[in-house]
Amino acid sequence: MTERAIPCSDAVKQLWDYLDKVLSPEDQALVEGHLAFCRRCCGELEFAKELRSFLASNVVDEIPADVKERLERFMEEL
Ligand SMILES: [Zn+2]
Repeated sequence: MTERAIPCSDAVKQLWDYLDKVLSPEDQALVEGHLAFCRRCCGELEFAKELRSFLASNVVDEIPADVKERLERFMEEL
């Protein structure tokens, strides 16, 4: 592996941009590289995907409080 490893906190911060495909190819590769070995962030990616489809199918202005709380708790654990 020649790629730079990024910490979970960086991977999570970029997760949404990754899903939106707005990361530079370099950053995208870093996130993918991280997801390849980090189970926890993989779980978070699945969660973020579900959340996105939820937000896309529901006209809501805000992320539900419990979801937000979960995300915040995840960030604190890093
Ligand atoms: Zn991770």
